[in-house]
Amino acid sequence: MDWSLRGCARQGHATYAPDEPELRERLRTETAVGEAWRCLRCEDFVLGPPHGSGPADEAPIVLRGKALREAFILRLFAVERWIRALILALLAAAVITFESTQTSLQAWFERELPRFQPLAKQFNYNLQTSGTIKYVRGLLHSHSGTLHLVEGFLIGYALLQIAEGIGLWSLKRWGEYVAAVGTSVFIPLEIYELTKHVTVLKIVAFVINVALILYLVVRKRLFGVRGGREAFERERRGDSLIEIEAVAADRSRAGQPSA
Ligand SMILES: [Zn+2]
Repeated sequence: MDWSLRGCARQGHATYAPDEPELRERLRTETAVGEAWRCLRCEDFVLGPPHGSGPADEAPIVLRGKALREAFILRLFAVERWIRALILALLAAAVITFESTQTSLQAWFERELPRFQPLAKQFNYNLQTSGTIKYVRGLLHSHSGTLHLVEGFLIGYALLQIAEGIGLWSLKRWGEYVAAVGTSVFIPLEIYELTKHVTVLKIVAFVINVALILYLVVRKRLFGVRGGREAFERERRGDSLIEIEAVAADRSRAGQPSA
């Protein structure tokens, strides 16, 4: 699959006229039907005026080939995060719904309790001071507290998944950090969950998360791994057509054979 061609088919070609004359000449050609400029993504000559112009340094960063494939993978992960967020939100909604019935259960308990008072009296049993009733009251109460915790956790987790998705989709470095850190935080919990009860879904989710962390740290060189940000940007610049042509132009100016 040619990722560059696919990118151009979707977004149109990316042509740019650099101010530097030598570089300009390398990217431009004259045809029988007018001028044509080389696309910075697929490298084909495209008829018509360039889409942008200015110093070579200010040329847009056009993702090509491998970088484009990586962008596609990251966006797949972004979509996967959003699906997770949706599932978590549905779970939170389910717990909140359950909680509202729980509250009515508690109300029912309080409402019905006096009804049994006369009956209880027959057995010389005071419901208002009964230890069991106190215990049940406490249980209902503490239970709703636990539910609040669960809701808070689910909503927070869903929001984190949304943030990770946005970060990954944006293809920005901060987004990759948010995703790597956010995913790592839950790895211990996922391992704990797996030690308690193993399901296919849990294993799949765990494998996806570990793969994402490894991919981000190793491939995107996060946390200074494999030269860190500098090495990553050097690599990306090296992938850029305008950068490759600039190096070639420098070489031919210096009298060396162009690569
Ligand atoms: Zn193109």
